[in-house]
Amino acid sequence: MLSTESTEILETKISDLMIPSEKVAHVQNQNPLEHALLVLVKTGYSAVPVLDANFHFEGIVSKTMIIESILGIERIEVEKLSKITVSFVMEKDVPTIRKDDTFMKGLKLVINRPFVCVVDESGYFDGILTRRVILKQMNRYLHENNKKDTE
Ligand code: AMP
Repeated sequence: MLSTESTEILETKISDLMIPSEKVAHVQNQNPLEHALLVLVKTGYSAVPVLDANFHFEGIVSKTMIIESILGIERIEVEKLSKITVSFVMEKDVPTIRKDDTFMKGLKLVINRPFVCVVDESGYFDGILTRRVILKQMNRYLHENNKKDTE
């Protein structure tokens, strides 16, 4: 049976777990791929959120998407990096989550992706929820309950 403490995890809101937008590396949809690749390589992330000039969430761009878009038949067409904008290669159809959604919704969404973007009702980007944070919470929850069972 779930104890009072253990049910707390289910009531945790995404706002308590997310990385706020000011700490998230992002690119804009009109940036050239060159810039996006630089951001991805410098930060070490495999993907980052894409926003418009007004901070609305647009999608996600990854190193793989960029590399694939410049693959020619016989060579990598590096010159395309400065000609194509992020909006042409990014993934637009990605699920998002709200700040006041629950831990369980976050848990479900990060099963298939390393992070999910937190977006408000007007489409503004609030931050990201990472799989790492969800796993950390789960780990704490399982340890606390295991301890209680053996006491
Ligand atoms: P992590 O769980 O910390 O390994 O992060 C998983 C993924 O979430 C990373 O590979 C990035 O795509 C994204 N991510 C995590 N932290 C940030 C951040 N501060 N800015 C941008 N993207 C991030």
